[in-house]
Amino acid sequence: MITRFAPSPTGPLHLGHAYSAILAHDMARVAGGQFLLRIDDLDQSRARPEWEDLIYEDLRWLGLTWDGPVRRQSEHFDEYRDTIEDLAAHGAVYPCRCTRAEIANAASAPQEGVPEFGPDGRIYPGTCRGRAYADRLPTDALRYELSKTTDGPLPAFTETGPAHAGEHDVTADHLLTRVGDPILARPNMAASYHLAVIVDDANTFVTHVIRGEDLFEATFLQRFLQWELSLSAPIYHHHRLIRDETGKRLAKRDDARAIRTYRAEGATPQDIRAMVGL
Ligand code: GLU
Repeated sequence: MITRFAPSPTGPLHLGHAYSAILAHDMARVAGGQFLLRIDDLDQSRARPEWEDLIYEDLRWLGLTWDGPVRRQSEHFDEYRDTIEDLAAHGAVYPCRCTRAEIANAASAPQEGVPEFGPDGRIYPGTCRGRAYADRLPTDALRYELSKTTDGPLPAFTETGPAHAGEHDVTADHLLTRVGDPILARPNMAASYHLAVIVDDANTFVTHVIRGEDLFEATFLQRFLQWELSLSAPIYHHHRLIRDETGKRLAKRDDARAIRTYRAEGATPQDIRAMVGL
């Protein structure tokens, strides 16, 4: 078993991160497997070295140990670009110049039962579909044209988390209505989150992805991209989210529940485990 914890260094780790990291760590240790640490610093405009240092400090304080070198996404941009080239060779990648406002304007009026947003943001209305990959400009984003490859059998994934345990088929209908043509890269970002995580997980041989419930929907898209690239599929385990007393999920800016705040107040790692119900 190879698990991983993959925080973005854009703020302090909070109780939700601690829960995720401890689960992934303990599952690997119980199974005699490996626990990897990855720094998801894809968005270089938001990543800060001081947040990265705090991640190491907080995890060590929690008593977690990781195996092998830490993988930082910013050191693998070439791999992501090569992967996008592979996808482009399938003839389904197109350049997109739409701004967020243009996408919102072009999206059809909301219909009952049809979501406006999916795990890749607002469901793209397809404005730039039909532009050729060869005509891409440095200022364009790149998107994957889902409808080009949704003939025939699609893959499935295994979920072991409490809310959705079982096998989940990735269907054309699901992708087209609930995700929309996903972004693969942006002018200022070598790869999108979805593209980068599947490359990272595959290249580090992750067997079990343990992460929050909020990413369950994204798994359909990520599994689809893995399948398009013939990458092996990990087993997924989406865990419950840690919420504040009003039921809101914790956010990076919620410093009151930051691990460093609890540390400064004299809490112990055992206290943190108890707070998240472990
Ligand atoms: N870096 C992602 C996050 O902080 C997690 C990556 C993943 O599990 O897909 O939400």
